[in-house]
Amino acid sequence: MTYPNTQLFINGQWCDAEGGRTMPVFNPATGTEIGRLAHAGVPDLERAAQAAQKGFELWRDVPANERCAIMRKAAALMRERAPAIAQLLTQEQGKPLAEAKIEALSAADIIEWFAEEGRRVYGRIVPPRNINVQQNVLKQPVGPVAAFTPWNFPINQAVRKMSAALATGCSIIVKAPEETPASPAELIRAFHDAGVPAGVIGLVFGTPADISSYLIAHPIIRKITFTGSTPVGKQLAAMAGQHMKRVTMELGGHAPVIVAEDGDLELAVKAAGAAKFRNAGQVCISPTRFLVHHKIADEFAKVFAAHAASLQVGDGLAQGTNMGPLANDRRLAAMQAITQDAVAKGAKVLTGGERIGTQGHFFAPTVLSHVPLDADVVNNEPFGPIAAIRSFEKIEDAIAEANRLPFGLAGYAFTQSIKTTHLLSQRLEVGMLWVNQPAAPWPEMPFGGIKDSGYGSEGGPEALEAYLNTKSVAIFNG
Ligand code: NAD
Repeated sequence: MTYPNTQLFINGQWCDAEGGRTMPVFNPATGTEIGRLAHAGVPDLERAAQAAQKGFELWRDVPANERCAIMRKAAALMRERAPAIAQLLTQEQGKPLAEAKIEALSAADIIEWFAEEGRRVYGRIVPPRNINVQQNVLKQPVGPVAAFTPWNFPINQAVRKMSAALATGCSIIVKAPEETPASPAELIRAFHDAGVPAGVIGLVFGTPADISSYLIAHPIIRKITFTGSTPVGKQLAAMAGQHMKRVTMELGGHAPVIVAEDGDLELAVKAAGAAKFRNAGQVCISPTRFLVHHKIADEFAKVFAAHAASLQVGDGLAQGTNMGPLANDRRLAAMQAITQDAVAKGAKVLTGGERIGTQGHFFAPTVLSHVPLDADVVNNEPFGPIAAIRSFEKIEDAIAEANRLPFGLAGYAFTQSIKTTHLLSQRLEVGMLWVNQPAAPWPEMPFGGIKDSGYGSEGGPEALEAYLNTKSVAIFNG
């Protein structure tokens, strides 16, 4: 599929920005411009907001089973179009084609789950204090939503928000990532082709800070949802607070991987290794701090480094590629700085540690051992293909280290002991914990963080609750 130029989608129409302003899109594997996208200005945003209000007033009254049927059609279209959409996603984002296809296919799964769950948005009837009174609790859609989604999973991060909004009867304006616009546009096309009415979904691109400040303050918008970095999330949450808007924040993490003395080393390398280098480590739930029992730390580091060194790095479109380029030059520069900082402070590079070639944003899968606690890599989210290994003696020390940072998104553990598993479940300050298995962020399970990793959930029934208002209604029939 030839890489297209991407337009805005406002009031059921694909359109250029007023004034015709555009921006370039680059392929991170080659560094070349592959297309352009429309850059929205205030008139475009205002049209999008007005359309979202109109779309909301229409969509909230569509019965849940009919909304479900339309959403299921969109899921079927995503499934059918996944191979073509994956080609676009790899070209704009860099991830291997197989990963891109999984992302497009998993969007279908997510849409279907939310479509069905939307049929189970129940209120309740509360026993009254007077027999002539009926007490009802109603769940109603919160209103038009503004969603800000990032470039690491251009489809997946948008589809969770859109599915929750649509399933509950909200309309939504998505500010999708400017660096990777074509694949989220295809997601929106699938919803449109499935029959979602005009105004229910809007798509805009432009200058992120201009769009967020305009939409968050806009009286039509009733809810904000953002996935991205913690500093930006804090700014947007503060702005939303000023305007008393509901907020869901899915922010950065720094996932600990605790490998206990009795942990299955082979499984830990396989599961955490695959997770670490997926999407070149640009994943909010990517394992980053490997805390390994001191008796097996050297062996773990050796096997993990061998796994990392065996990965084939290249253009995501090329056959056999296990890991693609970083999505942009900011991440490449960050990986170089993080590695240099760790080495200067005494860490050992077991494999990688360097840029590959001079064209595109390729960085070698990197494993660092004996990483001191003052190294940047164990304090700030690396968001790239770098694993930092440290050892521990007692499980309580590993828990303390895992909880030391302000982040609290994902955690992983490998142990055969029920007692250790129980302790970790109780004590780890994370929103999601996976024990003896890879990450499994299925739509039916809550997805989100605590502490500086944000609040709210993008999975499970909690994800729908975030798009609903609760109304108490008491009716006297005497
Ligand atoms: P960044 O902080 O500049 O941007 C992060 C995201 O927020 C981008 O999608 C960007 O378009 C958006 N953004 C930035 N300023 C905004 C604003 N004022 N209003 C609305 N949206 C805004 O960083 P970056 O270089 O693009 O990404 C690097 C960092 O972002 C990583 O270190 C990682 O912590 C974080 N990140 C997290 C996720 C995630 O899944 N939680 C995804 C992408 C990036």
